Amino acid sequence: MSYIEFENLSKKYNNAEKYALKNIDFNIEKGEFVVILGPSGSGKSTLLDLICGFEDITDGEIRIDSKIINNIEPKNRDVSMVFQNYALYPHLTAYENIAFGMKIRKENKKEIDEKVKWAAKILKLEECLKSKPKNLSGGQRQRIALARAMVRNPKCFLMDEPLSNLDAKLRNSTSNEIRNLHNELKATTIYVTHDQVEALSMADKIVILNNGEIQQIGTPFEIYNNPSNVFVATFIGRPQINLFDVYIDEDSIFFGESIKFNKPKEFNSLNKGKYIIGLRSEDTIKVENDNEDFIEASVEKIEYLGSETIFYLSNNEMKFTLKDYGLNNLKIGDKINIGFKFDKANIFDRLTKQNIRSK
Ligand code: ADP
Repeated sequence: MSYIEFENLSKKYNNAEKYALKNIDFNIEKGEFVVILGPSGSGKSTLLDLICGFEDITDGEIRIDSKIINNIEPKNRDVSMVFQNYALYPHLTAYENIAFGMKIRKENKKEIDEKVKWAAKILKLEECLKSKPKNLSGGQRQRIALARAMVRNPKCFLMDEPLSNLDAKLRNSTSNEIRNLHNELKATTIYVTHDQVEALSMADKIVILNNGEIQQIGTPFEIYNNPSNVFVATFIGRPQINLFDVYIDEDSIFFGESIKFNKPKEFNSLNKGKYIIGLRSEDTIKVENDNEDFIEASVEKIEYLGSETIFYLSNNEMKFTLKDYGLNNLKIGDKINIGFKFDKANIFDRLTKQNIRSK
């Protein structure tokens, strides 16, 4: 039995035409850091609201620690939410904000003090406990919101886009802090974001939602390398994965009208037919040897990112990207010969858009 279980969970808002969540079925183990990832409107906040009890469940069940929580009062669910806008009381100091819930619950004063100081130490907030939120930075405010959740010692932390109000530098450091905090506390965490980089860098396990349905559940490695369908393949990874409509027969792969590659041995099991091939920009390579299959393409745009460079390439029939760590001598308009690492390719059914290749 898992620590948190979602069984056929569905939600339809009153007056809504379609379901916001449909048959959500997955488990979370104790101590896992699970990221719910999806575009806007995919159902991420609805899922959090159902866990908190802010919204009623239409169908299905949520169990935490083997207890069905569907009808338990929100305040008794033993989950702590960290909101994206921090939701701090402006007239209270950091200390009072962190202690607020415990004070309301009339916990012992000495214990409250110990807990606040424990959380402040872990989150490096000791210096700002006497300050009010308006005198603190965005990062400090977010850490106070985390501390307030921590002192409740909940069964599960729920985090709703906690980094979205921070600037790029703070996002990075706060994301590291949240992950370090998790490594230290091992508290079960459900973290919602629309940002695939955040998901890949933070999650033990990612659950990808689209249109209220789970698209894939897996580790960041599995999701990046073996996306279950075209939606996941394109949602994860920047630049976006290269997708090619191809026709494959006994011996060849045809890209468009005139480009033909020998069929690689990795594709031997595929029946003759039309497919979509997905190749990431790092699996597009410059070919030096004329004996190999290649496409001649010209450089249309160059994005220099420091440690790596993204080349936007095109020929008459297709456009695609190549990521490289060298090749700094290329310039716009140059022509290069391009090959592909077909052993890394994902192959999708043209109609269902599902990945049909397990690597
Ligand atoms: P996300 O958090 O991924 O952006 P939401 O959970 O907010 O997605 O929304 C999922 C779907 O449910 C969307 O189609 C949205 O319009 C709809 N929805 C969200 N809240 C309500 C509501 N209170 N009433 C009706 N529809 C809602």
